Order: sequence, then C-alpha cells, then structure tokens
Amino acid sequence: MKLQPVKPGAAPALGDEVADVTQEAGDAEVRKHIAKIGERMDELQTALYAEGKQALLIVLQARDGAGKDSTIRRVFGRLNPVGCMVTSFKVPTALELRHDFLWRVHQAVPPKGTIGVFNRSHYEDVLVVRVHQLVPEKVWRARYDQINAFEHLLTQNGVTILKFFLHISKDEQKERLRERLDDPAKQWKFNAADLGERDKWDEYTHAYTDVLRLTSTPEAPWYVVPADKKLPRDAMIAEVVVEALERMDPRFPGPPEGLEEFRRLLS
Ligand code: ADP
Repeated sequence: MKLQPVKPGAAPALGDEVADVTQEAGDAEVRKHIAKIGERMDELQTALYAEGKQALLIVLQARDGAGKDSTIRRVFGRLNPVGCMVTSFKVPTALELRHDFLWRVHQAVPPKGTIGVFNRSHYEDVLVVRVHQLVPEKVWRARYDQINAFEHLLTQNGVTILKFFLHISKDEQKERLRERLDDPAKQWKFNAADLGERDKWDEYTHAYTDVLRLTSTPEAPWYVVPADKKLPRDAMIAEVVVEALERMDPRFPGPPEGLEEFRRLLS
C-alpha cells in the first residue's frame, strides 16, 4: 500500500479498522525492500549534505506504544548521523513555558543540508494540551493557524516537511503496553500515565482528527500510517521519505575551481 497525503480540510477515518493493512509479501522480502529503500535514502542524504541548500523535517506523532522509537531506529537508523538529528519533545521546561509554544521547536528545525526527525512535536500543543485543558480553548484553537503559518515560513526557507501519524488500534496498544510489562528490556518504557492517556482514547481521536483536518497542507502534508504491523509501517514511511528526497533532487556541488591544477599537484 502506498500512503497518500491527507487532503487539506479532509477528516480521515481513524477507526481501529484503518490501523491494519495486509502485508503484501513475506517478512524477508519486505525487509529486503526496506533495506533497498534505505540505501537510496542514504545516497540522497549524502547529496543533500554536500549540497547544503535545503533540509528535510519529518514529524512523528502517535499514541503511546505506536512505535515512534522503533520507526526512528528502523527507518532512519542507517543514515549518516552527521547529517541527521532526532529531537524528542517532552513536557516543556519552565523556561520553555515562558516562551511561545514554537520557540523550542524552531530551534530544533534541521539546518540546511540535514534531515531532522521530530519525535513528538509542536502538535503536542494541540493534542495533550487540548485533551488535558492545559491552556484555555481560545489559546489552543488559535494554534492551528499559527502552526500553518510557521510551517509555511519553513517551507519558504528551504525546509521540506513530512508529517506522519502512526495509527494503532486500541487492542494493539493494549498488547504493546502489556509487552512492555513482560519484557525486562522494555519495562523502563512503561509509564503508568500511559494508562490515563488510553482512557482518553476518544478525546485524542477527536484532537488528532482536527490536527489532520486543519493542518494538512500541500506544502506540509500529513500521512496516516496504519501502524499495527511494523514491517509495512516502516516500508510505507521509508517510501514517502525517499520520494520526497527524490523530488528535492539534491545535487553534489560541481568540482572545485582549478581541478586540473590540483590533480597535477597531487600526481
Ligand atoms: P515518549 O512517550 O515520546 O517516548 P516520554 O514518555 O518522555 O516520551 O513522554 C513525553 C511526554 O511529554 C508525553 O506525555 C507528551 O505528551 C509530553 N509532552 C510533549 N510536549 C508537550 C507539551 N507541549 N505540553 C505538554 N506535554 C507535552
């Protein structure tokens, strides 16, 4: 399945049934496919870095347990760390709260030549903040326009933006939270507060629907990723990322002036 961007103004269905897809090939084949796309991503990243004129920002949003961390490791883990930066947005610090909500985000935007991955993002300010009423409604309602204006500013300044909502079903989330309790290597990830968030499933669905409806634009599109199955999830995201990089068409800078002379000096 190929992911399609959410049409501006559309409110895609976010029921459990769209969290799953049929995996079209065996695991080994899908892994091979992902590795091949990864190689191309790596080549394009090298050119992007060498060119140094444009940047790629990838936003990952999801409910707890939907696999943001493993997506980062599996889709972006092969990239050259020199030109790739992951930023995880946590509960804002006291200092961050004294600024506008985009202050900390703007500083983390990838510089030209690099790829930036946001593990959570400015969208938390219209998700958790809305669901938990951390600011008055008037404040969070104004943020959709502010976010669109911010992302417009970035795209006008050489940043390509892709936004992914990793969509899991309620049953799959239960399964994954349970796995965390059972696996000593995952217990550290278990956070009792995740259960409270799970109780607010419908409120989050509503908040995510508004995010998709109000902030998917042609220049900074959202993709809803069926994320109950990990391999197709990784493949679908990697495909969208590579297609975007191909469209960005980064070019290696030309040879240094005086190439022949340098060749002669080094012969
Ligand atoms: P993760 O769940 O992403 O692996 P954590 O367990 O540290 O990482 O959770 C980060 C927490 O920070 C989440 O509960 C998230 O909702 C919260 N958070 C992020 N941004 C904001 C924000 N702007 N306002 C309030 N809470 C936020």
